[in-house]
Amino acid sequence: MAGVLLAPLPLAAGVVVGSSEPEAELESVLLADEPLGGGEQLAVAVTPEAAASEAGKPTPTSDPEPADPVPPQVIERSESGRPEVAITLDADLSEWTRDKVRAGTLPPQVNWEVLDYLESSGTKSTVFVTGLWAQEYPDAMTRMAGNPLYELANHSWDHDAWTYDCYGLPVMNGDPVEEVTATSSLIAEYTGAWPRYFRFPGLCHDADDVALVASTGAATVDYDLDGSDAFAENPQSVANALAAQASAGSIVVLHLNGVPNAPVTAQILQALVPALEAKGLTPVTMSELMAE
Ligand SMILES: [Zn+2]
Repeated sequence: MAGVLLAPLPLAAGVVVGSSEPEAELESVLLADEPLGGGEQLAVAVTPEAAASEAGKPTPTSDPEPADPVPPQVIERSESGRPEVAITLDADLSEWTRDKVRAGTLPPQVNWEVLDYLESSGTKSTVFVTGLWAQEYPDAMTRMAGNPLYELANHSWDHDAWTYDCYGLPVMNGDPVEEVTATSSLIAEYTGAWPRYFRFPGLCHDADDVALVASTGAATVDYDLDGSDAFAENPQSVANALAAQASAGSIVVLHLNGVPNAPVTAQILQALVPALEAKGLTPVTMSELMAE
């Protein structure tokens, strides 16, 4: 099915599109031509001020304070018992993909239709942004930061993997604390608050990684429902399956990247949100889902 949607794009041989891991499908293809392993230094030497300047927004007069460390925690769903679900959207961007977009060989990695639908329907969600994505799309960041329907969270700096064998993602070779902090700081410039949640690229992590992220003040969020928006062709059937599996406390993973790899996420949401509500489940932010 991917061949139909991705026909205009040159894909390397050996691309894995059949994995059950939602992140894996999406990023394996975006990174198909990218050299694996660490040949380049990561772009983590970006101060929040420089990032803000590059993104074309004014430099803030004061930096929000970093959050205190939190206990290491991996959240897959809420056990509050409340009839709530968290719709989460990952906004991936690697240097490789960013450069392809800048060169015009990939479209901008913002699915504006998703934002339009969430806002017109009054649907709450949590958007996990990479630092590079936040730098490239200041208009989207400003739009979300100014609307309480959204909670912004951290999806690493440049979407490198924290562990080996993470679906072909290049392995991070920078300082992980610096990377997490750079993205959290950039988010906080928009929202005024340090993000509370972090999602690992490819969902790949071990206990030490989770502890390190916790030291920066963020809890790790996985999921219990794969949104299956990677290369989806029939949004109604995807939405039906998700709605059937969703239960009180579920966390569903979708993507905010749009074409080519998550082209119908808005249409999935247009079918999914009413189906969840018909089931008595209310979409809330991650912070609301996890509230005591
Ligand atoms: Zn991702």
